[in-house]
Amino acid sequence: MKQCAVVTLIALICLTASACSDRGSSTNPTGAVRDELLTDSETMMDWIAEITAQGIRRPGYAADDWTEQWAAARFREYGLEDVTLDPIDVKRFEPLSCVLEVWHPETPSDRTTIPCFPAPFTAAGEIEGDLAFATFQGDEDLSGRIAVNRDPLLVLPQTIFTAFATWYHDPTNEVPTHVQTLPFGARLNGALEPALEEGAIGYVGILTMPWETDRYYVPYDAVERMIPAVWLSPGNGARLEEFVAGRPARARLAVASTLAAAISHNVTGALRGASDEWVIIGSHHDGPWASAVEDASGIALVLAQARYWSRVPARERPFNLLFLLNGGHMSGGAGLHHFVDTHADFLADEVVVEIHLEHAAREARGVDGALVPTDKPEWRWWFTSFIPPLEELVADTICRESLERSLIMPPEGFPPGSEHPPTDAAFFHPLAPIVSFLTAPVYLFDEADTIDKVHEPSLEPLTRATVRIVEGLRGQTAAGLHAQTYVPPRAAAIPPCPPRG
Ligand SMILES: [Zn+2]
Repeated sequence: MKQCAVVTLIALICLTASACSDRGSSTNPTGAVRDELLTDSETMMDWIAEITAQGIRRPGYAADDWTEQWAAARFREYGLEDVTLDPIDVKRFEPLSCVLEVWHPETPSDRTTIPCFPAPFTAAGEIEGDLAFATFQGDEDLSGRIAVNRDPLLVLPQTIFTAFATWYHDPTNEVPTHVQTLPFGARLNGALEPALEEGAIGYVGILTMPWETDRYYVPYDAVERMIPAVWLSPGNGARLEEFVAGRPARARLAVASTLAAAISHNVTGALRGASDEWVIIGSHHDGPWASAVEDASGIALVLAQARYWSRVPARERPFNLLFLLNGGHMSGGAGLHHFVDTHADFLADEVVVEIHLEHAAREARGVDGALVPTDKPEWRWWFTSFIPPLEELVADTICRESLERSLIMPPEGFPPGSEHPPTDAAFFHPLAPIVSFLTAPVYLFDEADTIDKVHEPSLEPLTRATVRIVEGLRGQTAAGLHAQTYVPPRAAAIPPCPPRG
């Protein structure tokens, strides 16, 4: 009874005394997720459907401009402060048409025409030359010729990824037998480089997707490679190889596309909290196609955070929160570069963690030449700074939310030699501590990234996980976390998830 009276008294005083607002940090001491404030997965799927319904969302396209405005309107609706569209320069590439015509010089009337897809940021125009099947394995003189190359996607046993991982959660023991196909070949965005170096006048890349497609929006680093370069679907690649059959062949490659400068925007909005320091929660708003996973799903995850935290009283938010939707991801990461360039001191001094959320993806596999979604989430990579309490918090969060197929990945060294994670959070590291969530499903850069590829059952757990990470850092500071950065190897292993029960 006495206790109740004291609580009531404090509550009454707090109604009138502004000093009570400083009591915020004790109001959610366990960092519990407030379920009643969460956005349900159905609503997030509705957002994703609305975004993808706008069409192809590349930088400079109307659908991406619409998405910026739509996201900013949601931020304002939730009461975020300083909602801003910060302009960035991007390159707008639009593939229009593509034809590859092939014949044998000794029988020129015997021809075949093969459909193709223009590789982004390559030249438009029409060329004619001898075809040269290239392996890029040694000296190959490709000067004046059209290089043809099979660029197989990376197909890697899961044990390769766990060898890089700081920690992983695999409750059903799939790691020893699982094989993952990545959406990249071994040369990543540099697929065309050897052909250019050897003087080829054109490039024909034969794709090895486990389904029939040539809609591969790679490379997207916005580097202009000024030869006509195209992708062939696996089936059309086989047709080409069959037609040529080792005999001398000549080809005409006709590509129509446009490349123009455009303006896109980074969309930001803020919520003030009980600390002077900041947590950034970000993703990117553009994509290679209408792209549900890449990254309408990331937009939905960021919006769910903005909505959640907007419903938490300011004094109970552990930090100031900045919500960030980068533009120009498919134009060399223009929005990421711009944000880091213009906020370097802020990132280094005032940001406790930058959490990036990309690709709530469903795993999909090729079955008899078709791409078929499975019931499973794609393997989840959590690129996390080498800061023990941050790593332990991410591991604990993964355990609590039962996020199977999760790997804590290093912020550098994956892929080997890289100084940054291969994500839209790349250059936040090492300025700010990062947790960069990303999956890499095989269809990521393809038109097949439709809404059925979103792993809906992951949306709420990922939302709860992000809240847990923010809450779990309550009381930490940017300087305090930076000071705990270690150089690998880690002193002690992160404990595994406790047995369920
Ligand atoms: Zn993405």
